[in-house]
Amino acid sequence: MATVGFIGLGNMGGPMAANLVKGGHQVTVFDLSAAALTAAAAAGCATASSASQAAEQAEFVITMLPADAHVKGVYLGEQGLINQLPENTLVIDCSTISAATAVEVGTALQQRGIEFIDAPVSGGVGGAKAGTLTFICGGSEAAVTRAQAVLQPMGKNIFRAGELGAGQIAKICNNMLLSVLMVGTSEALQLGIAHGLDAAVLSEIMSKSSGSNWTLDVYNPCPGVMDNVPSSHDYQGGFLVDLMSKDLGLAQQAALASGAATPMGALTHNLYRSWSQLGHGREDFSSIFNFVKANKK
Ligand code: NAD
Repeated sequence: MATVGFIGLGNMGGPMAANLVKGGHQVTVFDLSAAALTAAAAAGCATASSASQAAEQAEFVITMLPADAHVKGVYLGEQGLINQLPENTLVIDCSTISAATAVEVGTALQQRGIEFIDAPVSGGVGGAKAGTLTFICGGSEAAVTRAQAVLQPMGKNIFRAGELGAGQIAKICNNMLLSVLMVGTSEALQLGIAHGLDAAVLSEIMSKSSGSNWTLDVYNPCPGVMDNVPSSHDYQGGFLVDLMSKDLGLAQQAALASGAATPMGALTHNLYRSWSQLGHGREDFSSIFNFVKANKK
Protein backbone atom coordinates (compact mmCIF):
# COMPACT_ATOMS: atom_id res chain seq x y z
CA MET A 1 0.00 0.00 0.00
CA ALA A 2 1.28 3.46 -0.91
CA THR A 3 0.35 6.93 0.30
CA VAL A 4 -0.82 9.05 -2.60
CA GLY A 5 -1.67 12.75 -2.89
CA PHE A 6 -4.14 13.29 -5.75
CA ILE A 7 -4.89 16.77 -7.12
CA GLY A 8 -7.63 17.45 -9.69
CA LEU A 9 -10.85 15.46 -9.31
CA GLY A 10 -12.78 16.31 -12.47
CA ASN A 11 -14.41 13.94 -14.95
CA MET A 12 -11.20 11.91 -15.06
CA GLY A 13 -9.43 12.50 -11.74
CA GLY A 14 -12.49 11.70 -9.58
CA PRO A 15 -12.91 8.11 -10.78
CA MET A 16 -9.12 7.59 -11.00
CA ALA A 17 -8.71 8.49 -7.31
CA ALA A 18 -11.63 6.20 -6.43
CA ASN A 19 -9.90 3.29 -8.22
CA LEU A 20 -6.68 3.94 -6.29
CA VAL A 21 -8.65 3.55 -3.05
CA LYS A 22 -10.18 0.31 -4.39
CA GLY A 23 -6.62 -0.83 -5.17
CA GLY A 24 -5.80 -0.54 -1.46
CA HIS A 25 -3.87 2.74 -1.48
CA GLN A 26 -4.21 5.54 1.03
CA VAL A 27 -5.31 8.55 -1.01
CA THR A 28 -5.57 12.20 0.10
CA VAL A 29 -7.19 14.47 -2.45
CA PHE A 30 -7.59 18.16 -3.29
CA ASP A 31 -9.69 20.03 -5.83
CA LEU A 32 -10.90 23.62 -6.04
CA SER A 33 -14.47 22.26 -6.33
CA ALA A 34 -16.22 21.39 -3.05
CA ALA A 35 -18.59 19.04 -4.90
CA ALA A 36 -15.64 17.07 -6.30
CA LEU A 37 -14.17 16.74 -2.79
CA THR A 38 -17.48 15.49 -1.39
CA ALA A 39 -17.73 12.84 -4.12
CA ALA A 40 -14.13 11.73 -3.49
CA ALA A 41 -14.78 11.46 0.27
CA ALA A 42 -17.78 9.22 -0.50
CA ALA A 43 -15.41 7.02 -2.54
CA GLY A 44 -13.10 6.58 0.47
CA CYS A 45 -10.50 9.32 -0.08
CA ALA A 46 -9.27 11.60 2.70
CA THR A 47 -9.80 15.24 1.72
CA ALA A 48 -7.38 18.15 2.10
CA SER A 49 -7.88 21.91 2.03
CA SER A 50 -4.93 22.62 -0.29
CA ALA A 51 -2.63 20.89 -2.75
CA SER A 52 0.17 21.16 -0.17
CA GLN A 53 -1.92 19.40 2.45
CA ALA A 54 -2.87 16.62 0.01
CA ALA A 55 0.82 16.07 -0.80
CA GLU A 56 2.04 15.97 2.82
CA GLN A 57 3.42 12.51 3.65
CA ALA A 58 2.78 11.27 0.09
CA GLU A 59 5.20 8.88 -1.60
CA PHE A 60 3.42 9.55 -4.90
CA VAL A 61 1.78 12.80 -6.03
CA ILE A 62 -0.61 12.54 -8.98
CA THR A 63 -2.12 15.52 -10.81
CA MET A 64 -5.04 15.42 -13.27
CA LEU A 65 -5.54 19.09 -14.15
CA PRO A 66 -6.97 20.86 -17.20
CA ALA A 67 -3.96 22.51 -18.85
CA ASP A 68 -0.36 23.84 -18.69
CA ALA A 69 -1.06 26.86 -16.44
CA HIS A 70 -2.75 24.71 -13.76
CA VAL A 71 0.13 22.21 -13.68
CA LYS A 72 2.76 24.96 -13.55
CA GLY A 73 0.81 26.72 -10.80
CA VAL A 74 0.51 23.62 -8.61
CA TYR A 75 4.20 22.67 -8.87
CA LEU A 76 6.13 25.88 -9.58
CA GLY A 77 3.74 28.65 -8.43
CA GLU A 78 3.97 30.77 -5.28
CA GLN A 79 2.70 27.95 -3.05
CA GLY A 80 4.28 25.41 -5.43
CA LEU A 81 4.84 21.83 -4.30
CA ILE A 82 8.45 22.15 -5.49
CA ASN A 83 9.23 23.91 -2.21
CA GLN A 84 7.55 21.26 -0.13
CA LEU A 85 8.02 17.75 -1.49
CA PRO A 86 10.80 15.67 0.04
CA GLU A 87 13.49 14.17 -2.18
CA ASN A 88 12.51 10.89 -3.75
CA THR A 89 8.78 11.68 -3.98
CA LEU A 90 7.55 10.46 -7.38
CA VAL A 91 5.36 13.03 -9.15
CA ILE A 92 3.10 11.67 -11.89
CA ASP A 93 1.36 14.29 -13.98
CA CYS A 94 -1.53 12.69 -15.92
CA SER A 95 -2.88 15.97 -17.37
CA THR A 96 -2.57 16.53 -21.12
CA ILE A 97 -0.21 19.52 -21.42
CA SER A 98 2.56 20.62 -23.77
CA ALA A 99 5.73 18.54 -23.84
CA ALA A 100 7.66 21.78 -23.24
CA THR A 101 5.84 22.42 -19.94
CA ALA A 102 6.23 18.79 -18.89
CA VAL A 103 10.00 19.08 -19.47
CA GLU A 104 10.16 22.45 -17.66
CA VAL A 105 8.24 21.21 -14.59
CA GLY A 106 9.98 17.82 -14.59
CA THR A 107 13.47 19.29 -14.88
CA ALA A 108 12.82 21.84 -12.10
CA LEU A 109 11.58 19.09 -9.77
CA GLN A 110 14.43 16.75 -10.66
CA GLN A 111 16.93 19.48 -9.79
CA ARG A 112 15.52 19.28 -6.25
CA GLY A 113 15.82 15.49 -6.22
CA ILE A 114 12.09 14.92 -6.81
CA GLU A 115 11.28 12.32 -9.48
CA PHE A 116 8.81 13.24 -12.25
CA ILE A 117 7.11 11.49 -15.15
CA ASP A 118 4.52 12.78 -17.62
CA ALA A 119 1.77 10.17 -17.88
CA PRO A 120 -1.19 11.48 -19.90
CA VAL A 121 -4.00 8.99 -20.44
CA SER A 122 -6.29 7.67 -23.12
CA GLY A 123 -9.59 5.86 -22.64
CA GLY A 124 -11.99 8.64 -21.64
CA VAL A 125 -14.28 8.85 -18.64
CA GLY A 126 -15.46 5.27 -19.26
CA GLY A 127 -11.87 4.04 -18.99
CA ALA A 128 -11.27 6.16 -15.88
CA LYS A 129 -14.33 4.66 -14.18
CA ALA A 130 -13.56 1.09 -15.22
CA GLY A 131 -9.86 1.35 -14.32
CA THR A 132 -8.88 0.49 -17.89
CA LEU A 133 -7.02 3.65 -18.94
CA THR A 134 -3.96 3.60 -21.14
CA PHE A 135 -1.06 5.52 -19.55
CA ILE A 136 1.45 7.01 -21.99
CA CYS A 137 4.54 7.80 -19.97
CA GLY A 138 7.64 9.90 -20.53
CA GLY A 139 10.59 9.74 -18.13
CA SER A 140 13.33 7.43 -16.94
CA GLU A 141 12.77 3.68 -17.08
CA ALA A 142 13.31 3.47 -13.32
CA ALA A 143 10.66 6.12 -12.59
CA VAL A 144 8.10 4.55 -14.94
CA THR A 145 8.72 1.15 -13.34
CA ARG A 146 8.27 2.67 -9.89
CA ALA A 147 5.01 4.31 -11.00
CA GLN A 148 3.46 0.94 -11.97
CA ALA A 149 2.32 0.28 -8.40
CA VAL A 150 -0.09 3.22 -8.48
CA LEU A 151 -0.90 3.25 -12.19
CA GLN A 152 -2.04 -0.36 -12.29
CA PRO A 153 -5.27 0.10 -10.26
CA MET A 154 -6.28 2.86 -12.70
CA GLY A 155 -5.19 1.38 -16.01
CA LYS A 156 -4.90 -1.62 -18.25
CA ASN A 157 -1.99 -0.56 -20.47
CA ILE A 158 1.12 1.29 -19.34
CA PHE A 159 3.49 2.44 -22.08
CA ARG A 160 6.80 4.26 -21.90
CA ALA A 161 7.07 6.45 -25.02
CA GLY A 162 10.57 7.75 -24.18
CA GLU A 163 12.24 10.40 -22.02
CA LEU A 164 10.58 13.33 -20.24
CA GLY A 165 7.88 14.91 -22.46
CA ALA A 166 7.63 11.92 -24.82
CA GLY A 167 4.36 10.81 -23.19
CA GLN A 168 2.80 14.16 -24.06
CA ILE A 169 3.95 13.99 -27.68
CA ALA A 170 2.50 10.47 -28.11
CA LYS A 171 -0.74 11.59 -26.46
CA ILE A 172 -1.30 14.59 -28.77
CA CYS A 173 -0.54 12.41 -31.81
CA ASN A 174 -3.31 10.10 -30.59
CA ASN A 175 -5.78 12.90 -29.91
CA MET A 176 -5.13 14.57 -33.25
CA LEU A 177 -5.98 11.27 -34.93
CA LEU A 178 -9.02 10.84 -32.67
CA SER A 179 -10.40 14.27 -33.67
CA VAL A 180 -9.95 13.51 -37.36
CA LEU A 181 -11.80 10.20 -36.90
CA MET A 182 -14.59 11.90 -34.92
CA VAL A 183 -15.19 14.55 -37.57
CA GLY A 184 -15.03 11.96 -40.38
CA THR A 185 -17.41 9.59 -38.60
CA SER A 186 -19.83 12.47 -37.92
CA GLU A 187 -19.79 13.54 -41.57
CA ALA A 188 -20.41 10.00 -42.81
CA LEU A 189 -23.32 9.44 -40.39
CA GLN A 190 -24.93 12.80 -41.21
CA LEU A 191 -24.61 12.10 -44.94
CA GLY A 192 -26.38 8.76 -44.50
CA ILE A 193 -29.08 10.28 -42.27
CA ALA A 194 -29.66 13.06 -44.83
CA HIS A 195 -30.42 10.31 -47.34
CA GLY A 196 -32.92 8.62 -45.05
CA LEU A 197 -30.69 5.93 -43.55
CA ASP A 198 -31.10 4.74 -39.96
CA ALA A 199 -27.99 5.85 -38.02
CA ALA A 200 -27.85 2.59 -36.03
CA VAL A 201 -28.02 0.45 -39.17
CA LEU A 202 -25.44 2.59 -40.97
CA SER A 203 -23.16 2.45 -37.90
CA GLU A 204 -23.33 -1.34 -37.85
CA ILE A 205 -22.59 -1.57 -41.57
CA MET A 206 -19.54 0.73 -41.37
CA SER A 207 -18.42 -0.92 -38.14
CA LYS A 208 -18.18 -4.26 -39.96
CA SER A 209 -16.62 -2.59 -43.02
CA SER A 210 -13.43 -0.67 -43.66
CA GLY A 211 -14.75 2.52 -41.98
CA SER A 212 -14.60 0.85 -38.55
CA ASN A 213 -12.95 3.01 -35.89
CA TRP A 214 -13.21 3.80 -32.14
CA THR A 215 -15.47 6.86 -32.55
CA LEU A 216 -17.94 4.78 -34.55
CA ASP A 217 -17.70 1.47 -32.68
CA VAL A 218 -17.32 2.56 -29.04
CA TYR A 219 -18.19 6.29 -28.77
CA ASN A 220 -20.82 6.84 -31.45
CA PRO A 221 -21.58 10.57 -31.88
CA CYS A 222 -25.21 10.10 -32.99
CA PRO A 223 -27.71 10.26 -30.09
CA GLY A 224 -29.56 6.99 -29.47
CA VAL A 225 -27.19 4.63 -31.29
CA MET A 226 -25.43 3.61 -28.05
CA ASP A 227 -26.66 3.85 -24.46
CA ASN A 228 -23.62 4.65 -22.39
CA VAL A 229 -21.96 7.41 -24.36
CA PRO A 230 -22.20 11.22 -24.04
CA SER A 231 -24.16 11.64 -27.32
CA SER A 232 -27.11 9.82 -25.71
CA HIS A 233 -26.89 12.09 -22.63
CA ASP A 234 -27.03 15.56 -24.23
CA TYR A 235 -23.27 15.37 -24.83
CA GLN A 236 -22.55 15.64 -21.09
CA GLY A 237 -19.99 13.79 -18.95
CA GLY A 238 -17.21 13.08 -21.43
CA PHE A 239 -14.26 14.94 -22.96
CA LEU A 240 -15.00 18.65 -23.41
CA VAL A 241 -14.86 20.36 -26.81
CA ASP A 242 -12.63 22.96 -25.11
CA LEU A 243 -10.19 20.28 -23.94
CA MET A 244 -10.03 18.70 -27.40
CA SER A 245 -9.48 22.15 -28.83
CA LYS A 246 -6.62 22.67 -26.34
CA ASP A 247 -5.01 19.33 -27.33
CA LEU A 248 -5.27 20.18 -31.02
CA GLY A 249 -3.58 23.51 -30.28
CA LEU A 250 -0.76 21.59 -28.58
CA ALA A 251 -0.48 19.35 -31.65
CA GLN A 252 -0.22 22.41 -33.92
CA GLN A 253 2.47 23.95 -31.69
CA ALA A 254 4.42 20.69 -31.84
CA ALA A 255 3.97 20.53 -35.63
CA LEU A 256 5.28 24.08 -36.04
CA ALA A 257 8.25 23.37 -33.80
CA SER A 258 9.23 20.27 -35.79
CA GLY A 259 8.11 21.24 -39.30
CA ALA A 260 5.72 18.27 -39.48
CA ALA A 261 2.84 18.67 -41.95
CA THR A 262 -0.54 18.21 -40.23
CA PRO A 263 -3.23 19.54 -42.59
CA MET A 264 -6.03 17.40 -41.13
CA GLY A 265 -5.01 18.30 -37.59
CA ALA A 266 -5.05 22.02 -38.51
CA LEU A 267 -8.53 21.65 -39.99
CA THR A 268 -10.00 19.81 -37.00
CA HIS A 269 -8.36 22.36 -34.66
CA ASN A 270 -10.23 25.14 -36.47
CA LEU A 271 -13.49 23.16 -36.50
CA TYR A 272 -13.32 22.56 -32.74
CA ARG A 273 -12.39 26.18 -32.01
CA SER A 274 -15.32 27.39 -34.13
CA TRP A 275 -17.69 24.94 -32.44
CA SER A 276 -16.56 26.24 -29.05
CA GLN A 277 -17.07 29.85 -30.16
CA LEU A 278 -20.64 28.94 -31.11
CA GLY A 279 -21.23 28.06 -27.44
CA HIS A 280 -20.48 24.31 -27.34
CA GLY A 281 -17.18 24.35 -25.43
CA ARG A 282 -18.58 22.54 -22.36
CA GLU A 283 -20.14 19.70 -24.39
CA ASP A 284 -18.48 16.38 -25.11
CA PHE A 285 -16.28 16.50 -28.23
CA SER A 286 -18.63 14.10 -30.07
CA SER A 287 -21.13 17.01 -30.31
CA ILE A 288 -19.17 18.10 -33.42
CA PHE A 289 -21.72 15.71 -35.01
CA ASN A 290 -24.22 18.61 -34.86
CA PHE A 291 -21.78 21.00 -36.57
CA VAL A 292 -21.78 18.91 -39.73
CA LYS A 293 -25.54 18.37 -39.84
CA ALA A 294 -27.06 18.63 -43.30
CA ASN A 295 -29.04 21.74 -44.16
CA LYS A 296 -31.98 20.54 -46.23
CA LYS A 297 -32.17 22.56 -49.47
P1 NAD B 1 -12.19 18.52 -15.77
O1 NAD B 1 -12.31 19.94 -16.21
O2 NAD B 1 -13.41 17.67 -15.63
O3 NAD B 1 -11.41 18.44 -14.35
C1 NAD B 1 -10.33 19.23 -13.99
C2 NAD B 1 -10.39 19.39 -12.46
O4 NAD B 1 -9.24 20.11 -12.03
C3 NAD B 1 -11.61 20.20 -12.00
O5 NAD B 1 -12.33 19.45 -11.02
C4 NAD B 1 -11.00 21.48 -11.41
O6 NAD B 1 -11.74 21.99 -10.31
C5 NAD B 1 -9.63 20.97 -10.97
N1 NAD B 1 -8.64 22.02 -10.80
C6 NAD B 1 -8.29 23.02 -11.65
N2 NAD B 1 -7.28 23.75 -11.14
C7 NAD B 1 -6.97 23.20 -9.93
C8 NAD B 1 -6.02 23.50 -8.92
N3 NAD B 1 -5.17 24.52 -9.05
N4 NAD B 1 -5.99 22.73 -7.82
C9 NAD B 1 -6.85 21.69 -7.69
N5 NAD B 1 -7.78 21.35 -8.61
C10 NAD B 1 -7.84 22.10 -9.72
O7 NAD B 1 -11.15 17.85 -16.78
P2 NAD B 1 -10.97 16.29 -17.11
O8 NAD B 1 -11.90 15.91 -18.20
O9 NAD B 1 -10.93 15.52 -15.84
O10 NAD B 1 -9.50 16.32 -17.77
C11 NAD B 1 -8.31 16.50 -17.01
C12 NAD B 1 -7.12 16.32 -17.94
O11 NAD B 1 -7.18 15.03 -18.54
C13 NAD B 1 -7.07 17.35 -19.09
O12 NAD B 1 -5.74 17.71 -19.34
C14 NAD B 1 -7.64 16.55 -20.26
O13 NAD B 1 -7.17 17.04 -21.50
C15 NAD B 1 -7.17 15.15 -19.95
N6 NAD B 1 -7.99 14.05 -20.50
C16 NAD B 1 -9.36 14.08 -20.40
C17 NAD B 1 -10.09 13.01 -20.93
C18 NAD B 1 -11.61 12.97 -20.88
O14 NAD B 1 -12.21 12.10 -21.55
N7 NAD B 1 -12.27 13.85 -20.10
C19 NAD B 1 -9.44 11.92 -21.53
C20 NAD B 1 -8.04 11.91 -21.56
C21 NAD B 1 -7.34 12.99 -21.05
